[in-house]
Amino acid sequence: MTDKKDPTRIVEAGRRKEWTQGIVNPPVWRASTILYDTIAHLRATGAKDTHHTLFYGRRGTPTQWSLADALTELEPGAEATLLYPSGVAAVATALLAILSPGDHLLVPDSAYDPTRSLANGLLKRMGIATTFYDPLIGADIAALCTPQTKAIFMESPGSLTFEVQDVPAIVAVARARGIATLIDNTWATPLLLPAIAMGVDYSILACTKYIGGHSDIMLGSVTAAQGQYERLRAATYQLGQCASPDDAFLGARGLRTMAVRLRQHGEAALKIAHWLKTRSEVARILHPAFPECPGHDAFVRDFKGPAGLFSFVLNGGGEAARAALIDGLEHFGIGYSWGGFESLALPVDPQRYRTATKWEAEGPVVRLQIGLEDPDDLIADLDAGLARFRAAQG
Ligand SMILES: *Cc1c(COP(=O)(O)O)cnc(C)c1O
Repeated sequence: MTDKKDPTRIVEAGRRKEWTQGIVNPPVWRASTILYDTIAHLRATGAKDTHHTLFYGRRGTPTQWSLADALTELEPGAEATLLYPSGVAAVATALLAILSPGDHLLVPDSAYDPTRSLANGLLKRMGIATTFYDPLIGADIAALCTPQTKAIFMESPGSLTFEVQDVPAIVAVARARGIATLIDNTWATPLLLPAIAMGVDYSILACTKYIGGHSDIMLGSVTAAQGQYERLRAATYQLGQCASPDDAFLGARGLRTMAVRLRQHGEAALKIAHWLKTRSEVARILHPAFPECPGHDAFVRDFKGPAGLFSFVLNGGGEAARAALIDGLEHFGIGYSWGGFESLALPVDPQRYRTATKWEAEGPVVRLQIGLEDPDDLIADLDAGLARFRAAQG
């Protein structure tokens, strides 16, 4: 079992015979009421932890458990995984599982904006204080830890700007102080960054992205390290969090091809990023595999490869020039989210969200999700886009 490689694991994981009945892809089990044979049976099942036991629809069915277990198997050292109706719900539940009024939280300045909103909104209202930190802080995060600090949140690479964090250094600081660590691992997935094996306590995924892979589900997950599951389970049950069996089914279906998709997304994105770097209209590439990307050394050391999402900074130009580039693209859709089979281009303005660090750029920024189209078609599309950008710049 231990020498299985990831692509093999991803095909086989979570497909327990008692859940699949021999059907290759675990089917959709929809439920609210579960019927018991007797009162004694009902009472015996009502034990606290009903993960893997049919109890009531909200606690899941084999459809959700199968995907949850598959994600646990992908994170060596993990105890268990629970599913959520979105990635944001997964982030929120994990933080609420750990934090209490009076506690202090550390969040990178490059975090996904809804994570920042949670910290500045609901968590603040609950009396939980957040300090945003420079994503490149590394071991110096020790200076920001107080006796009240109960959780360090990480997201690597950062949303929009792709700084890579020194996860082992931050984990070491947290462990020495009994502080819980969480990582939003949506970009890398456990295939490219086995976060739990690196000592992180909670690995969070927006399964909406690469796990689903087809832009047609909303789903999140939290995988807990050994000994970290119980409080996550309690908070999840108390908040009534559950993922729909239909989305869990599609998540499991998507997962089986994720290793192949991720390799293609990653290679195509690298090719396109290298091409963009040769262009005079482009000032900078924000991609962890590029030496100029802040934290690149940590990327080389810790990650098994690149994913298919990155940004680039245009050389001068304003809103209208950026719009000329993006609006006319043929193969790139304009829309939120990413991780599907289709390419997307999004105008992003990272400087708007920063509070702990200043983020400056030579011009407007474009984020690209590279899909499974032929990269040469995408390059031709971007070539025409850059010509429009030049024309609009005048
Ligand atoms: C999309 C995203 C999320 C949120 O996922 P949803 O399923 O859309 O709620 C969280 N973190 C990152 C890094 C994301 O890109």
